[in-house]
Amino acid sequence: MRKPLVAGNWKMNGSRESVSALVDGLKAGLATEDGLAVDVAVFPSAIFVEQVGNVLASTNISWGLQNICTEEEGAYTGETSVAMAKDFACKLVLVGHSERRALYGETDADVVAKVQRAGLAGLIPVLCVGESLEERESGRTMDVVAQQVQAVLKGASPESLAQLVIAYEPVWAIGTGLTATPEQAQEVHAAIRELLAEHDADMAARTRILYGGSVKGANAAEIFAGADVDGGLVGGASLDVQDFLTICGAAG
Ligand code: PEP
Repeated sequence: MRKPLVAGNWKMNGSRESVSALVDGLKAGLATEDGLAVDVAVFPSAIFVEQVGNVLASTNISWGLQNICTEEEGAYTGETSVAMAKDFACKLVLVGHSERRALYGETDADVVAKVQRAGLAGLIPVLCVGESLEERESGRTMDVVAQQVQAVLKGASPESLAQLVIAYEPVWAIGTGLTATPEQAQEVHAAIRELLAEHDADMAARTRILYGGSVKGANAAEIFAGADVDGGLVGGASLDVQDFLTICGAAG
């Protein structure tokens, strides 16, 4: 019942020229009259959102922002609001990516506020959670992930969580070439779904839980085979049209 989602996080990469080639390639590669078997989305740098939207508007591919402001509007230099995201037809927003938590000091409280703001505005919040290598090696993976998920389940309103997507991204696997084994991924995904079920059974059944961390064409199918793995959040490999298309195919 859950439609898989494959989303590309382009991070702070690209130029007008490379973004143009990327969206043209995705548009051609995913062109279909019957609708796609998977939902596909891209998260460009905010400055490219209009360019991306202009090309993808006539396709089944969605786009969104990598971050969102907790405030509505006003004196928040450097930030982007949900109203701006919606004005440019964004459908989704990443929240709590590990790079934002680690490099920009984003706390669970910030993450809750962003999920709340985005969800109530009708954007799909893609909540990123995951443990560091040290946390995994000391056996604290589920404590860390549970705390990140519970913060949002307890802090955000049910209305804002109606379309929530969760991305399990072990920090040690992001951009490192290291990937969780299919068993490690499924184990954490199942535990996250269990947490959701304790909160709300319907929510557990409908919420898509993506895996992220060095997913590429060559390993996507075995990771996506997990019963609780509903697609992927893809960084580096999403900048390569062919590899990203292979990953989308592996989820469908
Ligand atoms: C990410 O940034 O969300 C990510 C999963 O990156 P990569 O695929 O490059 O590990």
